[in-house]
Amino acid sequence: MITVHKLFGRQLAQARAADGTIDLDALGALVSQAYAESDEDRRRTDRSIALMVDELDQLNRHLERLVEERTAALRAREAELKAQNVRFDAALNNMTQALLMFDAEHRLLIANNRYLDMYKLTRDQIPPGSTLEHILECRRAAGTYFGDPKSFTDYLIPALAERKVITRFSELPDGRTMFILIQPLPDGGWISTHQDITERRRAEQQIAYMAQHDFLTNLPNRVLLRERLEQAVPALCEGEQLAVLYLDLDHFKTINDTLGHHFGDELLKAAALRLRSIVKACDTVARMGGDEFVVVQTGIRRMQQTTALAQRICEAMRQPFDLEGHTVVVEVSIGISLAPGDGQAPNDLLKNADIALYRAKAEGRSTFRFFEPDMDTRMKARHELAIALRHALTEGQFELHYQPLVALSDQRVTACEALLRWNHPVRGQIPPDTFIPIAEEIGIIAAIGEWVIGKACADAVRWPHDVKLAVNLSPIQVMNPNLVSVIVRALAVSGLPATRLEIEITESALLHHTDATLAALHRLRSLGVGISMDDFGTGYSSLSSLRSFPFNKIKIDRCFVQSLVDGDDSVAIIEAIAGLAKSLGMITTAEGVETLEQMNRVRALGCTEMQGYLISRPRPLNDLWPLFATECRRTGTAD
Ligand code: C2E
Ligand code: MG
Ligand code: MG
Repeated sequence: MITVHKLFGRQLAQARAADGTIDLDALGALVSQAYAESDEDRRRTDRSIALMVDELDQLNRHLERLVEERTAALRAREAELKAQNVRFDAALNNMTQALLMFDAEHRLLIANNRYLDMYKLTRDQIPPGSTLEHILECRRAAGTYFGDPKSFTDYLIPALAERKVITRFSELPDGRTMFILIQPLPDGGWISTHQDITERRRAEQQIAYMAQHDFLTNLPNRVLLRERLEQAVPALCEGEQLAVLYLDLDHFKTINDTLGHHFGDELLKAAALRLRSIVKACDTVARMGGDEFVVVQTGIRRMQQTTALAQRICEAMRQPFDLEGHTVVVEVSIGISLAPGDGQAPNDLLKNADIALYRAKAEGRSTFRFFEPDMDTRMKARHELAIALRHALTEGQFELHYQPLVALSDQRVTACEALLRWNHPVRGQIPPDTFIPIAEEIGIIAAIGEWVIGKACADAVRWPHDVKLAVNLSPIQVMNPNLVSVIVRALAVSGLPATRLEIEITESALLHHTDATLAALHRLRSLGVGISMDDFGTGYSSLSSLRSFPFNKIKIDRCFVQSLVDGDDSVAIIEAIAGLAKSLGMITTAEGVETLEQMNRVRALGCTEMQGYLISRPRPLNDLWPLFATECRRTGTAD
């Protein structure tokens, strides 16, 4: 049986007539129509294929363009990344800090060159992937770590897990100091930076040192002193004391003014060294500024330990300083407070020691005093006096009294000594021993001295021509470069001949003498002015001061004269002085002669002149005249 195509089968069925025959024409028409439809379908298919090919072609071109663009962008990005990497490497290896970077597994990602240099490592020793413990072991071998690598990592890893930032200072075996900062990163890794802060530390230490030390002497300054006191006082054991010795160099200001600040500085340095050499290493010597020093003596069980130290300091400071061709003597006054008795706070201890220092100075300098509670009141009184003293000259509150000096041979008045009196408007007459040290201290002694010499010369010019005038000069006046001109002017203004003037100076005026001081004294002597050594025997270098200048007169201090009757060493001393003075062609005046017996003794011991209440107390100018009457001169009873 023939199998026909389904379509043809359908066409045959359509072309079959009712009688079952095939209408060939109808069949032909059906087949032709089928061919025509088929042709149409093919044409349609061909058209859509052509369209698709076209579209595909376009798509392809678009994709190619896209790929090209993406590739170019990627290349650019790659180049950018490369450049960035180069920059990153440069930055990493040129930073001043050493750096390590670890991943979340605590494995090394990066170590910069600075890290390798800083800790003497090579790159091969710590390749990427190394653990911190390994790196620290390598450092230990290189001598740049002296901790325990394991215990450090055991501490670090849990801390980082808690996202803690860790900072620490690390001292290297070679003395360098590192500041280390360890910070966790968001991805679980961490970064550690190390900065060498040795120089900064040194600078900070230097600044801290400078803030606590005196630049001139290198001694602790008041800041450090307070700190030490703050620590030392509470640390005192039962029954133990601490002493604050407040020192002040006597007459330093005058030395500084006459010899210059450079010399003053050198003197302070030498004094600081000397002080340091006297005290124990555990005791503090500080400079408070100017010529003030403080010594803190610790571990005291008996007060004698402090007395001994104070004596040692006074004694050592008295030894002459040889500086730049000058020999200078500086004395020191010391005020002492004791902790805990006189206070516990540094301020109280220093204040009370300072009060005691004032006392020591007021009582003649070159000595020491322990603080006593009523000193404070006395110091306030002294302070008030100082304020009033500033106005005394302009307010005309000064007055001169005169005391005669008489020849022991015939009791003739040879001279009258001008003695200054201050008539205080409230307190009445104040003696010079009280206010002259204050005037020296507050810097007005030169002005007062100038007034004294002017007034005294003007008074004396009216006295009998054989009566001289004696005027006292403070050591500060003696060192004043204007000394000669002040005296010459007073003589010229008053018309008093130079030969009728005697100036009285004490040993302390020669303690700090300079060539200029001696030259001024020689100049005055050459003009005819007499130069007397006053209060002889009260200093500690009496004989050496006699050697430094050819005095016309020695006035033996009244302490020798007044102890004469008790028959102590004074007899031998006065006799020796009188003998020495005679051989040197000087007059010897015995001061403070109050009794006839004393007068006879000093005459017998060889003194040539005397002064004292026996003849007359110091008296106002107008009461002097009876002394000049011939008969009074003989009897010595003018009072
Ligand atoms: P000085 O120069 O040694 O004067 C003698 C002092 O002894 C005077 O004290 C006088 O009153 C006192 N005196 C005299 N005879 C006797 C006596 O027989 N017994 C006793 N107990 N004392 C006697 P004054 O006036 O109080 O002066 C004290 C010191 O003050 C003077 O000692 C002198 O160093 C100083 N001074 C006085 N006037 C001046 C002055 O104008 N300038 C300076 N820089 N110092 C002066
Ligand atoms: Mg005198
Ligand atoms: Mg005297």
